[in-house]
Amino acid sequence: MGGTRFARAGTERKTRATDIVRSFREDLAISPSSLRHLRSGNVSLSQAVQASETPPNIERKKRIVRAESVHLSWDYQSNQETNMKEPKFSIRAIPDEISAAARNTRRSPQYGHPAHVELAGGTGPCRQCLCTFYVGKENRILFTYNPFDGLDPYPSPGPIFVHETPCATYSPRDKFPDTLRSLPLVFEGYGSDRWVTVREKVIDGAAEAVITRIFDQPEVEYIHVRHGEAGCFIAHINRA
Ligand SMILES: [Zn+2]
Repeated sequence: MGGTRFARAGTERKTRATDIVRSFREDLAISPSSLRHLRSGNVSLSQAVQASETPPNIERKKRIVRAESVHLSWDYQSNQETNMKEPKFSIRAIPDEISAAARNTRRSPQYGHPAHVELAGGTGPCRQCLCTFYVGKENRILFTYNPFDGLDPYPSPGPIFVHETPCATYSPRDKFPDTLRSLPLVFEGYGSDRWVTVREKVIDGAAEAVITRIFDQPEVEYIHVRHGEAGCFIAHINRA
């Protein structure tokens, strides 16, 4: 559904760009070769206009003023295209009821295995607030969690941590948590039947570019973020 929307937006942008180029050429009577040089950045707008044949019925000064206007419009459209390619996504932490049940029962809510409470010996992170732990200063609960519950019948249970005391669920949309940028991360794009169709490592915190690349692949339905060293699940990412 998202793919159709983006495909339609792409067609509209292409049509607008074509109209602008047609308007640019007709308005200026600019030659195709000058236009190519202008678009490649080899010549300035004034040079491109002057290099083209001057129609007798249009004054040069008026043509240049109109050219500046069309050129600005062209730049604006290009910027709009760039902005429209920015990823729209939402980060989803584990469900609140899962972390609440783990705190209350001290067992894995999905499997019933005993949970383990300890003073944080590593940075985590907490899968509810998506903050890293202060090592040696906070208590955390370790329990077994299946991140594919409700997505696919084939589970992949693994260990996750949450703060022992209740914390706020990470909720901002369209924003990757800064608290995760210091961690080595792996982004896995899942297609149908939860097959991993693409996997990328992020070690410099530049998550947005990777999310964009993965969601550019239409077969990807969602992304899971995992710890790049421990391999355990951290968060789920949907297209917005
Ligand atoms: Zn937390």
